[in-house]
Amino acid sequence: MECDECRERLYPYLDRELSPREVEEVRVHLDDCGGCESSFVFEELFLERVRSSATSDVAPRAVRERLILRIRRDLHG
Ligand SMILES: [Zn+2]
Repeated sequence: MECDECRERLYPYLDRELSPREVEEVRVHLDDCGGCESSFVFEELFLERVRSSATSDVAPRAVRERLILRIRRDLHG
């Protein structure tokens, strides 16, 4: 799988909309590709935190931005 294809599957992967075969292909790619892996990890953390901190499905923009900054700090020290 190429990086472009992998990144196209990021949201469907996190939303668990991929077939088991596609999930496997994404995992194989993430194992060898640090760039895609960090995008996936970042988005996953972001979605988790939005879900756990927001009162509605869509967090206000300011909350999302604050979360993004906090996650970046956590990931990069
Ligand atoms: Zn990649």
